[in-house]
Amino acid sequence: EELAGLLRGRIRDVPDYPKPGILFKDITPLLADPEAFGALTEALAAFCKEAGATKVVGLEARGFILAAPVAVRAGIGFVPVRKAGKLPGATLSQTYDLEYGSAEIEIHAEDLTAEDRVVVIDDVLATGGTAEASLRLIRRSGARVAGLAVLMELEFLPGRDRVLPELAGAPYQAL
Ligand code: 5GP
Repeated sequence: EELAGLLRGRIRDVPDYPKPGILFKDITPLLADPEAFGALTEALAAFCKEAGATKVVGLEARGFILAAPVAVRAGIGFVPVRKAGKLPGATLSQTYDLEYGSAEIEIHAEDLTAEDRVVVIDDVLATGGTAEASLRLIRRSGARVAGLAVLMELEFLPGRDRVLPELAGAPYQAL
């Protein structure tokens, strides 16, 4: 559709970044275009409203850039999920497997309550490991998972199959 075409036209494919053989999806042209960034923010805010979200979680680092204006637009709070060691308060943490090794992410537990319905936003769903771990963190905080929205899904990877069980019926959208 029209939105998908607008967004797709502002994503730059960068070959061999950050390693040989990887085709990196660069969102900076989209961020630099107010029409495309505005349309993306509107679409993500509409997703949050339909999901009944009370909080939006952005995943470090590009997820922050997308989720923060969505929070303001939707009139709900923003909560960051960060790489381990960056948040100063009491955190919940979650480790997950990477192709080689593992990664750890954290959230400030007190920023979510049992009454919250949380939508998670990130730029790219690849293997789904980051999103899956984030959804698990939200569930462990006692809040409800209300949905997951990403700008792009890499369809040649099984990310969707990995996150759907963790969503347990909550909506998923790749714009
Ligand atoms: P996953 O955990 O699903 O394998 O990887 C997703 C995470 O890695 C996201 O936080 C995303 O920002 C980043 N990522 C992986 N591949 C790309 C890419 O091609 N472009 C961008 N912009 N981010 C990527």
